[in-house]
Amino acid sequence: MKHRRGIDLIGRESRYDILYLGPLMDPAHVTFDDIPEWHALGGHCAKCERTGWVNRWEVSQKWGERTYLGTLASRLRCLGCANKDGNKWILGKLPR
Ligand SMILES: [Zn+2]
Repeated sequence: MKHRRGIDLIGRESRYDILYLGPLMDPAHVTFDDIPEWHALGGHCAKCERTGWVNRWEVSQKWGERTYLGTLASRLRCLGCANKDGNKWILGKLPR
């Protein structure tokens, strides 16, 4: 399998039980390490307004627990329209 460098936003339908909380504040100063375990990370597409969630454990393993999320925002890739520009991190809450 080809190893891709982007971070794909998986479909909302596969994680429909995540409650959307809002955009991630101050991503330039937030790392995976700072985000509580019961929170989900996702992205919002600047072009088609689609939101999707990422597998935060997989992503943090790949890019490093202490990587600032702001530096990874440009890696977010919308699976709806393939846009990678201007996408923003969003936060969600996992079901208990
Ligand atoms: Zn899009």
